[in-house]
Amino acid sequence: MEASLGIQTEEPMVFSPPRDRFRTDDSLKKHEQNFKLAGVKKDIEKLYEAVPQLSNLFKITDKIGEGTFSSVYLATAQLQVGPEEKIALKHLIPTSHPVRIAAELQCLTVAGGQDNVMGVKYCFRKNDHVVIAMPYLEHESFLDILNSLSFQEVREYMFNLFKALKRIHHFGIVHRDVKPSNFLYNRRLKKYALVDFGLAQGTHDTKIELLKFVQSKAQQEGGSQNKSHRITGSKSLLSGSTPRVLDQQFTTKPSVKRPYTSAHIQVKQGKDGKEGSVGLSAQRSVFGERNFNTHSSISHESSAVKLVKQSKTVDVISRKLATKKKTISTKVLNSGVIKRTASSCPASLTCDCYATDKVCSICLLRRQQVAPRAGTPGFRAPEVLTKCPNQTTAIDMWSAGVIFLSLLSGRYPFYKASDDLTALAQIMTIRGSRETIQAAKTLGKSILCSKEVPAQDLRKLCEQLRGLEPQTDKLPSDTQGHASCDPPLSENTDHNACLPQMSQAQLTGTSLQTGDSNGLRGHFDAHTTNSRGWDQVPDEAYDLLDKLLDLNPASRITAEAALLHPFFKEISL
Ligand code: ADP
Ligand code: MG
Ligand code: ZN
Repeated sequence: MEASLGIQTEEPMVFSPPRDRFRTDDSLKKHEQNFKLAGVKKDIEKLYEAVPQLSNLFKITDKIGEGTFSSVYLATAQLQVGPEEKIALKHLIPTSHPVRIAAELQCLTVAGGQDNVMGVKYCFRKNDHVVIAMPYLEHESFLDILNSLSFQEVREYMFNLFKALKRIHHFGIVHRDVKPSNFLYNRRLKKYALVDFGLAQGTHDTKIELLKFVQSKAQQEGGSQNKSHRITGSKSLLSGSTPRVLDQQFTTKPSVKRPYTSAHIQVKQGKDGKEGSVGLSAQRSVFGERNFNTHSSISHESSAVKLVKQSKTVDVISRKLATKKKTISTKVLNSGVIKRTASSCPASLTCDCYATDKVCSICLLRRQQVAPRAGTPGFRAPEVLTKCPNQTTAIDMWSAGVIFLSLLSGRYPFYKASDDLTALAQIMTIRGSRETIQAAKTLGKSILCSKEVPAQDLRKLCEQLRGLEPQTDKLPSDTQGHASCDPPLSENTDHNACLPQMSQAQLTGTSLQTGDSNGLRGHFDAHTTNSRGWDQVPDEAYDLLDKLLDLNPASRITAEAALLHPFFKEISL
């Protein structure tokens, strides 16, 4: 059944409660606040208890970040003679693997403290509790400031991001989770800091010793699931904590759906892939992925992804079109024979499910390719999404490109995919399906896609999304009526918020994130926008964007080269 394979993109607009539902009810709001305050107070007490030495040095005043893998607190301290300092205390979840923690710390100590890379002041440990003390950088919420930034500020933001990336890449650190919440920005002080090396990995020649260990462990793990020392995962699996991405992922809500929400994709390993010796595993490696979770991977894989031998060809395009649903159906496939694996399923076994929308029992037995997958789907490079094993610092440049795309289009998050294959389909809608398929081919992956979608002109796209370009004239008739406003944006009466989906969906048939109660704001008033330099975005900006969103990691621009790009000619290093 088609439904069994369709990846439902979660629709925040539909499922999230309206953000300001309680705004009218002051007492409820107060109650909520008090409740939260009490919770924070309790957490602070617990932290003092867990790591008592903190109380000698710090006065912890607030909680400023909470993820699945850490909580970050604001504290004041009188560390040296002089005024009190503000400190950020990152309390890592006790289930983190010691090597992972040590590697994060080493990234900060070796590469940090310069060039917009966060440094570290102290680290505290008691038993399995580790707290990293960093200088506190007060920062803006990306979403809050996105639409008030001047073009010049965007230029500076990107420049400073590349500066940080150049530095960490120089040390052979692949950050793997470059996104606005990990790049702190203080607009007033024009200060920037790349944070969060919790997912970082090393290049083959990394200067961060512990990242070498981290990486070799990952590879070992790919070869065997029975290693007693996994760097991440096993303990956390038992901890009952909700993995970071799991809460969005693998939803099976089939009901409320906008027309452009499904993608059908399969992934097959390329014959050129060198991963056979270490890279095939019955379960996807949990290493390096903080939403690590074998059960989540498996349920995901079995519902949406195939690793199968090409055995027959079915005209998936016509089948899908016959359903008259606006879906883009994509499969990433092995172009040849898959190596025999240690699993109970010989790779040579043929099956009938190739290019269909089912995953047969033979395929369910096949091993998954292991490749690092850490990060956030919407920021993942195509080579990460297609599980290429040889990933480089270029993946961070892709993520920087996605940030730049948000800044230029005024849309955040730009891509909101709950899983990799949807994310890949969304990339196709911007960069073109043929182009994406071609790039994947050079990496030994073949992608099957039900529909051809053209690459978009980046300037036109961004200007359209910003509301700088008239757009009603070019809509194909079948999408004109309901594009983007189906279901209606009940909480959002700003009609311009519908426009981006119109422009994207008309070309794509997949859903791209356009507006939701979590906060996408896309609409620029052309008037105010103009006054901030947005009427004169030079071609260089889109040229740089194009080079960042290069589907081929080998030719994608590096951080060092990006800093020298003509787009920054007026900014000095
Ligand atoms: P996680 O691994 O949980 O994402 P991060 O290191 O990204 O942890 O920190 C989470 C959040 O805490 C950040 O997005 C940021 O808002 C805040 N934060 C982290 N480090 C600092 C710092 N040095 N100064 C100010 N805020 C920080
Ligand atoms: Mg983070
Ligand atoms: Zn099969």
